[in-house]
Amino acid sequence: MRVGVPKEIKNNEYRVGLTPPSVAELVAAGHEVVVETNAGAGIDLSDQDYIAAGARIVATAAEVFAQSDMIVKVKEPQRQEIAMLEPRHLLFTYLHLAPDPKQTEGLIKSGATCIAYETVTARDGSLPLLKPMSEVAGRMSVQVGAHYLEKEQGGRGVLLGGVPGVAPAKVAILGGGVSGVNAAQMAVGMRADVTIYDISNTRLAELDMFFSSQIKTVYASKAAIASAVQSASLVIGAVLVPGAAAPKLVTREMLKTMKRGSVLVDIAIDQGGCFETSHPTTHQDPVFEVDGVIHYCVANMPGAVARTSAFALNNATLPFALKLANMGAEAAMRADPHLANGLNVMGGKIRHQAVADALGLEF
Ligand code: NAD
Repeated sequence: MRVGVPKEIKNNEYRVGLTPPSVAELVAAGHEVVVETNAGAGIDLSDQDYIAAGARIVATAAEVFAQSDMIVKVKEPQRQEIAMLEPRHLLFTYLHLAPDPKQTEGLIKSGATCIAYETVTARDGSLPLLKPMSEVAGRMSVQVGAHYLEKEQGGRGVLLGGVPGVAPAKVAILGGGVSGVNAAQMAVGMRADVTIYDISNTRLAELDMFFSSQIKTVYASKAAIASAVQSASLVIGAVLVPGAAAPKLVTREMLKTMKRGSVLVDIAIDQGGCFETSHPTTHQDPVFEVDGVIHYCVANMPGAVARTSAFALNNATLPFALKLANMGAEAAMRADPHLANGLNVMGGKIRHQAVADALGLEF
């Protein structure tokens, strides 16, 4: 198959659909890969790196689209990209169609087959192509939290791990799923005093086994969270109720009881946030303060570490990209029902029930 990789054009997006190692795997499997010049330049992946992996470099996105059957991207296609899609194309990328009727209409009109990373499933019902980004956001949350706890950033002037003779800071992690566990691993590594709160007793038991005495686990009752935020220097919001807005676990009233200069990192902001006082921020202006408490609410945290994120995403997407290229979209989806769950649009129709329901369109 001819596989194409355009340079991402969404604002501040530096990730790339295929890294050179992924290109090399596709080329080794007998496929032709066309990459737009400078597609990976923002994360120090040069055209030369792609050529060494076996890709052919072209000057424009238009050439990529014209010369490829499958387009592999990161972000949802922008207006100019949708205009270049044809019925013969297979598009493999994040789409997030539910809140985006305009993009949906464009993809329906294009006639292309569009497989969304975010709805591909795994055997246990989890979402394997979202997982790497939750891992990145979870690990980053502790790094940014530690940064904003520094005095010159407006923080309490607290070192997460303490020092000999001075107790470590308390870190409360709300939600012990993928991002929560990754946050906990970093906080434990920095020797903070870590507690994870979750409403799943099964999950709490797993975390207790996994971390042993390195962390504490607490059932996430309202009272437990109210008490946690009073004493924690860093609170990380990492909850998810699939398909729903994040529950507001930390209320405005609770915020008043927090120490001045403590930090909230709301990873769940992409689902509305789990702190009542959260609103989405960007990497250009990532924090704001309410009642003396610093809020970090960047909706696209992995964007800050685009190089790590691109490689992590490729590790997860490559097996599916290879399957699609080797077998063709229809045969690959027949053989793998989890990949088939990624199908959102085909032949001018919505092909995903939840997406159709969210948009009030026919399935
Ligand atoms: P996950 O499903 O792996 O984990 C969520 C956990 O929250 C589960 O263990 C669940 O039991 C727990 N939970 C649900 N309701 C709860 C409640 N009321 N109290 C306490 N715990 C509760 O989810 P994840 O992959 O870790 O993702 C978490 C959030 O982070 C999602 O909204 C995801 O979209 C978001 N995310 C944001 C970014 C970003 O850049 N901001 C990046 C990646 C993921």
